Amino acid sequence: MTTNDVQVAIIGAGFSGLGAAIKLKQNGVDDFVVLDRGQNFGGTWRDNTYPGAACDVPSQLYSYSFELNPDWTRSYGHQPEIHRYINDVAVKYNIEAKTRWGSDVTRAEWNEDENRWHLEVTRNGTTEHYSARTVVAAAGPLCEPNLPDIDGIDSFGGKIIHSARWDNDYDFTGKRVAVIGTGASAIQLVPEIAKIAGRLDVYQRTAPWIVPRTERTYHRAENWAFKNVPGVQKLMRATVYGLNEVTAFGLTYSPKALKPVELVCRGNIAKSIKDPELREKVTPKFAVGCKRILRSNNWYPAIARPNVDLVTDGISKITGSGVVTKDGTEREVDVIVVATGFHVTDSPMFETIIGTQGRSLAQAWEHTGMQAYKGTFVHGFPNMLLMVGPSTGLGHTSIVYMIESQLNYLVSYFKQVRDQGITRTEVKADAQDEFNNSVQHGLRNSVWLTGGCASYYQDQNGNITTLWPGFTFNFRRITKEFDIAAYDVERADATVSA
Ligand code: NAP
Repeated sequence: MTTNDVQVAIIGAGFSGLGAAIKLKQNGVDDFVVLDRGQNFGGTWRDNTYPGAACDVPSQLYSYSFELNPDWTRSYGHQPEIHRYINDVAVKYNIEAKTRWGSDVTRAEWNEDENRWHLEVTRNGTTEHYSARTVVAAAGPLCEPNLPDIDGIDSFGGKIIHSARWDNDYDFTGKRVAVIGTGASAIQLVPEIAKIAGRLDVYQRTAPWIVPRTERTYHRAENWAFKNVPGVQKLMRATVYGLNEVTAFGLTYSPKALKPVELVCRGNIAKSIKDPELREKVTPKFAVGCKRILRSNNWYPAIARPNVDLVTDGISKITGSGVVTKDGTEREVDVIVVATGFHVTDSPMFETIIGTQGRSLAQAWEHTGMQAYKGTFVHGFPNMLLMVGPSTGLGHTSIVYMIESQLNYLVSYFKQVRDQGITRTEVKADAQDEFNNSVQHGLRNSVWLTGGCASYYQDQNGNITTLWPGFTFNFRRITKEFDIAAYDVERADATVSA
C-alpha cells in the first residue's frame, strides 16, 4: 500500500478550501494537497447549476478581500459568474497543481502514535491513502443534498432531480413538474421552470419571507472605476458590509427591530399577488428572519401564473406516477424536483472523521449537537481545522467574511506550529465548552430561537448550532490570533500543556 505523506490535507475545493490553500502557500507551507470529489473549483457554486442559481448576498461582499473582482457584471452575482471567479483565482495562485480531482475522502482517522491523520480516498474506483500532520476539513455545510423522506418516493417512475445535482440535459419543456420546497433554491429555479413547463405544482410546507431583489447591472463606468480608481471598490465593499451588519442587530438582539423588513415583505406580497387566497397562502406565520430572508422579484409572479399551482395541503406520499396530498388528491407528474436543502447539522461526513479513542465527529456531537472552538477546532480531533464549522453560519451577510476570519486563525496557527515545533494541538474541552456557552448565551434572544419557526439552523434538539450570533466583526476579532492557551499541545522535543 502506497501512502502519500503531506503536511496538510485540505478536503474540499470551494471558497474555504481554496482560500486555505492560497493562505498556506503565501505563508510558506507548500507541502499540501487539496482533495475534492468534483472536477473543478467552486464547491457549492460548482454543484448548484439549476436555472436561475444566483447569490442573495451582494457581489461586492462575495469575493476574497485579497482578490476583489472589479468585473462583477451585477450587484448580485449569478452562479456562472461566481464559479468563474473562484476558478480564475485558483488559476492565479496555481492551486490546480496541488489538487487531486475526483477524490472522495471516505475516511479520515487520527493516529495517536504518529500524531497524524490517515485518509482513505476513493478515486477512479481505487482507494488511495494519505497521511497528513493536519487536516483542513473544508467540505462546507451545503455539500450533502437532503433527499426528503417521503413515503413511496423510491417507487416514483419518473425522474427525480435534486436542486444541487441538476440534470442540465433534462428538457422541462411542456412537462408536468412537481417542485418540493420553497427555500432559497426553489424560489430561484421555480420562475425559470414555470416559463417552459406544461404544468408546475409547487409543494410548500412553510411560506418564506421574501424581500425584493434589488439587483442591477453595473454600468461600464463603475467597472472601470473598480479597476482603475484606487479605493473605490474597497469603499463600496465597506459600505455594503456596514449596511448589512445592521441587520445582525435585529436578528440576534432585537427581533422587533426587523419590523420594517416584515413590512417590506408584506408590501412585496401585496404588490405581486392579487388573489386573496393565494396571498394568505404565501404569508409566513413566523417572525421575519427566523428562517433565511429570501430575495426575489419573480417568485410571486411565477406562482401566480396560470400553469402554476401552489399546493399547501402537505404531501402524504409519492406514487409511481405522482404526488398525493393529505386531502387525498393525486397530481400526476413527469418529474419531481426536490429543492429540500442539505444535511447541515447531520452531515454523513461526520461519520467518516474519526478522532481520538476511535470516536467519530457524529459520536462526539451526538448529545451536544455540533460544537467547535471558534467554529474551527473540536476537542478530541487534534490537528484538524473545520472551515465554516459550527456557529459560523450567517443570516445577514457574506460567509466569505467568516471564511477569511477563519483563514487568519489558520495562518496564525500554522505560524505557531512552525515556530514552536508543535506536533499535536487539541483544543481543551473547557475552552470549547466556554466558547459554546457564550455562543448559546448570545443566541438566547435571537429571532432564530424566538421567532416561532423550525429551520435547518437548528439541530434535532432545537439548538442553534449553525449560526454566529451578532456582528461578524466580533468573530474577526476573536480569530485574529491563534490563542494557544486554549489548547493542549505537544512539541517535537517535549510534551507541554500550554
Ligand atoms: P432550504 O432552505 O433548507 O429549504 C428547503 C425547502 O424544502 C424548505 O422549503 C423546506 O420546507 C422544504 N422541505 C424540506 N423537506 C421537505 C419535505 N419532506 N416535504 C416538504 N418540503 C420539504 O434549502 P435550499 O433552498 O436548498 O437552501 C439551503 C441554503 O442554501 C440556503 O439557506 C442558503 O444558505 C443556501 N442557498 C443560498 C442561495 C443564495 O442565493 N446565496 C441560493 C440557494 C441556496 P420547511 O421550510 O417547512 O422546512
